[in-house]
This record gives sequence, structure tokens and C-alpha cells, in this order.
Amino acid sequence: MNDLYSDILLDHYRLPRNKGKLADETLSVEGKNPLCGDELILHLKVQDGKIQDIAFEGTGCAISMASASMLTEDLKGRTLEEVRRRIDQFRVLIREGKEPEGESMDDITSLIGVAQLPVRVKCATLPWTTMEEALKSAPK
Ligand code: ZN
Repeated sequence: MNDLYSDILLDHYRLPRNKGKLADETLSVEGKNPLCGDELILHLKVQDGKIQDIAFEGTGCAISMASASMLTEDLKGRTLEEVRRRIDQFRVLIREGKEPEGESMDDITSLIGVAQLPVRVKCATLPWTTMEEALKSAPK
């Protein structure tokens, strides 16, 4: 278990980045993981095909909340195309337990141990599937 809750993961859990609302959001999307009780809302400002700003609110386990914090930090400023690529890369990391080729996952790599625990994969993945839902309704 010590491997799972790395310092980086705990740091994101205790000091979440971009937590709260956005005054000028263009859309928000809600996600839930009933298996664990994790709940999340992503607030987004999407403009010119880019995530101009992003914040999240939610309650849940350390893994889901840390993953949400890492997601906001990673995706802020990215184009929607880049966001899709990062979601795919995240899936490789969380399902196969290895870093995807070509691009560093930075702090997100600290979630790699979750791949060993199928019951927690949904916790780590929740923010990313919620983001995927947001993309469906984002202005092109
Ligand atoms: Zn959870």
C-alpha cells in the first residue's frame, strides 16, 4: 500500500490544484463512481478549441481526488485534440501499468500502482471519463 500512496499522490490529495468553481465557465460536467462513492464536477472554460481554464469540485477517496487534481494541472491550456491524446495515454498507464511512449505523464505517473488494483482503477479513471464526456459537448 505504501507504493500506491506515493508522496506525489498524497500531495495532490492534501493540496488539490484548481479546486473550486470558475466564474466564467463555458460548461460543467458531473461524474460519479458509485462503487466507491466518488463524486466530481469539472468546470471548464473552453474557447478557440482550447481548455483556457479548468477547476473541479468533488468528494471521494484519495485516489479519485488526486487524479482530478492532476488532470486539471495537466490539461489546462491544452487543445481539445491534445486532451483526447492525454486521455488515451492515461488509459495505457492505468490499464497496463506502464508509461505510454513518447510523452511524460509527469505527476500522473504516480497513479501507476493503481493498475495492480482493478477495484481502484475506476477511482483513478473517473476524472478522465468525466473529461471525455465534457469533450462531447464542448464547442468545436
Ligand atoms: Zn474512489
